Amino acid sequence: MRCVFCKNDSSDSRSLEHIIPESLGNLSHILPPGVVCDKCNNYFATKVEKPFLETDAIRQLRFQQSVPNKRGRLPEMEGVLLPGFPAILRKFPKSPFEGFIGLEPRAIRHLIASDGGKVILPYAGDPPERFVSRFLAKAAVEAMAARLFHNSEWLDSFTDEKQFDEIRNHARRGEIPDWPFHVRRIYDMAAKWVDEEGKAIQLVNEYDILKTDWDEWFFVLALFGLELVINYGGPEIDGYQRWLNENGHRSPLYTGKNNDDPFRLLG
Ligand SMILES: [Zn+2]
Repeated sequence: MRCVFCKNDSSDSRSLEHIIPESLGNLSHILPPGVVCDKCNNYFATKVEKPFLETDAIRQLRFQQSVPNKRGRLPEMEGVLLPGFPAILRKFPKSPFEGFIGLEPRAIRHLIASDGGKVILPYAGDPPERFVSRFLAKAAVEAMAARLFHNSEWLDSFTDEKQFDEIRNHARRGEIPDWPFHVRRIYDMAAKWVDEEGKAIQLVNEYDILKTDWDEWFFVLALFGLELVINYGGPEIDGYQRWLNENGHRSPLYTGKNNDDPFRLLG
């Protein structure tokens, strides 16, 4: 068996690879040992996923949406007790509306004197582009491998396919620092959806692979309602804009084969 990134023999590898990290609520999209070798798996965990997950924007999304990491913890956030006292916010993962607020004694004196107060969480902005781009490249290659790994010949030809070398190397070595991606919000991050049985669920992450009529391939990921798209074929994203223009700007996650999608947005 060979690794889909470095193409080296990976028969001895033991680690499972999460296409989307567990800390983003993914428990099901997992590749078996060897599809990604242990060395690449370790590299991605520390050099690609960790910097992405530790950006203020992602920490804040996980905090607001109460998505625990694999140890069941939520990130701690630095907020502000108005008018300007630092406040450390901690939430209980199992009870999204309860938690702790850590305050300095002078802030507590202010709270008592003013009979209450308001804590705000400063807006963290979008995560830095270089972290997002490599994170997407890694997930894109793995999402393709997940479609193919049950057939070793298909997986082999994907591993050998030169047209995917550029995106592999972008994920694994970061050789193209400004590889572009497309980003837009497709639904409110707190939107609740209902499944076939009418049970309310919250979509944290989902993805699909889009193949256009002119044979370009795109990886489309929705993370907390943010749609992130990268091109398998190289560092350009114009083709996705063209697809959007031709398809009424709908998300590929909810069009075409998904026309009879069991999920529908609750008003
Ligand atoms: Zn490898």
